[in-house]
Amino acid sequence: MGVLSIIIPCYNEEENVFDFYDEFMKNEKFFNEHDLEFELIFVNDGSKDGTVDKVKELNKKDSRAHLISFSRNFGKEAAIYAGLQKSVGDYVAVMDCDLQDPPALLPEMYTIITEEGYDSVATRRVDRKGEPPIRSFFARQFYKIINKMSKTEIVDGARDYRLMNRQFVDAILSLEEYNRFSKGIFGWVGFKNKWIEFENIERKKGETKWSFWKLFKYALDGIMAFSTAPLAMASLLGVIFCLVAFVFIVIIIIRKLTIGDPYNTVGWTSTACIILFVSGVQLFCTGIVGQYLSKAYLEVKKRPLFIVKEEL
Ligand code: UDP
Ligand code: MG
Repeated sequence: MGVLSIIIPCYNEEENVFDFYDEFMKNEKFFNEHDLEFELIFVNDGSKDGTVDKVKELNKKDSRAHLISFSRNFGKEAAIYAGLQKSVGDYVAVMDCDLQDPPALLPEMYTIITEEGYDSVATRRVDRKGEPPIRSFFARQFYKIINKMSKTEIVDGARDYRLMNRQFVDAILSLEEYNRFSKGIFGWVGFKNKWIEFENIERKKGETKWSFWKLFKYALDGIMAFSTAPLAMASLLGVIFCLVAFVFIVIIIIRKLTIGDPYNTVGWTSTACIILFVSGVQLFCTGIVGQYLSKAYLEVKKRPLFIVKEEL
């Protein structure tokens, strides 16, 4: 007999809590056949709607539905971590509340872990149906860039929907970093992982919490969490500019010694451009260093990832 924990981060999902439960319970027969108990951990990430009341209502109906409620919105990454910490299952799944991660895949994922010897089964959507084209375009570029920059493989279209065994979960929990980027962390811990694919399902009720700028920031955070390539790029730019400057100096000296310097007094516009350009590059590079420093600052502070207001 095993226990399956399901972690469901929820931010303003009052319309979806019961729908999710109903859809999830369609697997009940499979769970019974495999002697599998389950617990549902709804992590309320500071919702402003009635999500908490809905989960409490559900808990009265079925005591296997649990609640962790944050004191404010800490983000999905924190919600996942809180859920993993509370989970007691031998197998743990992370799923969205909006039914974009179909619970119908759970039996297949469970079978892959228990019978094929994998430690985790991850899902990726094969298309981006229903997404604005511009968003898909930038998403694709992001995956190209981050995979060039980082040694950890970060898969395009990967969802956070994943089933893991206990060993895998404990490995994730051992990474206590403040700036969490799950898509990278799941890959970083290693183990034997299988990808399964499904077609994108559009959110049925409620709205996505991701605006374009939120996604853009998330992309930058992801790159910084899993790569120091931008820092190396800053150093490289410095070296290139030194070399260019050196070549110019040599040219100027040679010209002065051979033909004199007829342009000595009229070169100020180009000089101004060069100064502006080079100081721009310098500020850009300082900015990169600053970004890493600010991340390090938050890590050093060791603030908790989340604060729990109530639990069920
Ligand atoms: N979510 C969360 N905290 C947040 C934003 C989102 O817990 O700050 C949850 C949300 O309730 C949902 C999941 O994370 O269950 C995915 O969010 P969403 O559907 O908005 O993202 P998308 O599917 O559009 O990428
Ligand atoms: Mg969604």
